[in-house]
Amino acid sequence: MIRSALLKSMNGYIDGNWCPADADRTVPVINPATGETIAIVPVMGRDETNRAVDAAARTLKTPASIEQRRKWLSRLADLMTQHRDELGRIITHEHGKPLAEAQAEVDYAASFFRYYAGCVDHLQPKQLSERPRNHTWTVYYRPAGVAALITPWNFPLAMLAKKFSAALVADCCCVIKPSSKTPLSMIALFSLIEQIGLPPGKANLVLGPAGEISDALCEHPAVRVISFTGSTSVGKKLIAKTAPHLKRLALELGGNAPFIVFDDADVDHAVDQLMANKFRGAGQTCVCANRVYVQQGIADTFSEKLAACVNAIKVGNGMEAGITMGPLIDRKAFDKVKRHVDDAISQGAVRVAGAVPIEPQPNQGCFFPPTVLRGITAQMECVNDETFGPLAPIIEFQSEAEVIEAANRTEYGLAAYVFTASDERAARVIPRLSFGHVGHNTGSGPTAEAPFGGMKHSGFGREGGLEGIHDFIETQTVPRP
Ligand code: NAP
Repeated sequence: MIRSALLKSMNGYIDGNWCPADADRTVPVINPATGETIAIVPVMGRDETNRAVDAAARTLKTPASIEQRRKWLSRLADLMTQHRDELGRIITHEHGKPLAEAQAEVDYAASFFRYYAGCVDHLQPKQLSERPRNHTWTVYYRPAGVAALITPWNFPLAMLAKKFSAALVADCCCVIKPSSKTPLSMIALFSLIEQIGLPPGKANLVLGPAGEISDALCEHPAVRVISFTGSTSVGKKLIAKTAPHLKRLALELGGNAPFIVFDDADVDHAVDQLMANKFRGAGQTCVCANRVYVQQGIADTFSEKLAACVNAIKVGNGMEAGITMGPLIDRKAFDKVKRHVDDAISQGAVRVAGAVPIEPQPNQGCFFPPTVLRGITAQMECVNDETFGPLAPIIEFQSEAEVIEAANRTEYGLAAYVFTASDERAARVIPRLSFGHVGHNTGSGPTAEAPFGGMKHSGFGREGGLEGIHDFIETQTVPRP
């Protein structure tokens, strides 16, 4: 069992209190590197969720000043930084990523609270510069209401930080539901939230698998916004479930990122960027390259360099020194990556890096060897579906037009990457890519300052930047003679 000063209470948090667990309804938290149960947390249901929403709705009636919000956000960012090592350790235990990566996630999560602490003044009322109808017009930014924040396991802290920081700056009251696979970093965060002086009901934590919790959030009339990060299939279910209740949705969904390397690109740089982009979190990130398009003239050189780097990855328990890639989250994830590799090889692809995966045994970690395949063609599963694992499939292309068409041939539109020495080429290609985030000679993902989100089936709404606040505010205009 995991021990931590930040995990004194293994419970949800409603209306300013830790909620005692119901001993009959619990779920284990498994360390994916060892298969061990590291905690048992309560499973909450409709009653607890409704209580959390009611508490949030009550607190919403007392607005917080802009200055107060700034203090909460800054204080939480500082506490997260102060506890970065411990928060990182908790993330590594429940997610499996290497400790340094987990600590970097804490820094990243804290950066959103810090960024929005610096943005509160944008929510001050504004006067229109014109005076239509000879009236004075004031524009106010009101909190949109109770916000339900539902997050995935792949960045247990950061995915929540993006939403919660924006919701707090907008003065919303929140009900937070983390993935039942990784609830511990959220419990730890709430032990810090307790210290920043939020009024009871401002932030509530409900634990357990979706089911009753998500049904209650979709149906409760006081919930005005549901901000969800997760799979496209669940995003579609939320659209259907909330339609009769007309709730505002912000959806950060799946991806199928193309990583395009033209033959004039700096190959070493492109390989370095792909390594950082693709194998972080064992390839379980929505922004990571899912398809690697390499122009024919440099395909051999690129593949050799990439294979050498991939073979140097040290796979193992993220708590051990020197480990650079952890396990996959569970057996289901392992089976999906294996299916993509097997499907490609059965259709003629060649493994140029990575061993044949070893079937995980019960009560052991699900480690998948980082793999590079060549000879990938358009009909293979790994091209058409998000692998969410450490597989880099290389697809060769000849022309600019061909690669633009291939890159866009997906229902997803989250992230893409273009490597070229030519600014003219980049200026031609990038506007034609239907993706919300396009790295130009970089594999970097989102940051607190920049609005990030998807096109097409990757969702709608943006997180980060001033746009990240939009989902959590109602704009009210007040004309007066
Ligand atoms: P998921 O299965 O969709 O789960 C995400 C969250 O939704 C979890 O808290 C889950 O709870 C909950 N959930 C499950 N079924 C639900 C339902 N019917 N109604 C409401 N909520 C429900 O996704 P995941 O496996 O955790 O995450 C991986 C996916 O997230 C990938 O597709 C990835 O690309 C995407 N992602 C996108 C972004 C982005 O910024 N666009 C960022 C990160 C991840 P329980 O599992 O506890 O039941």
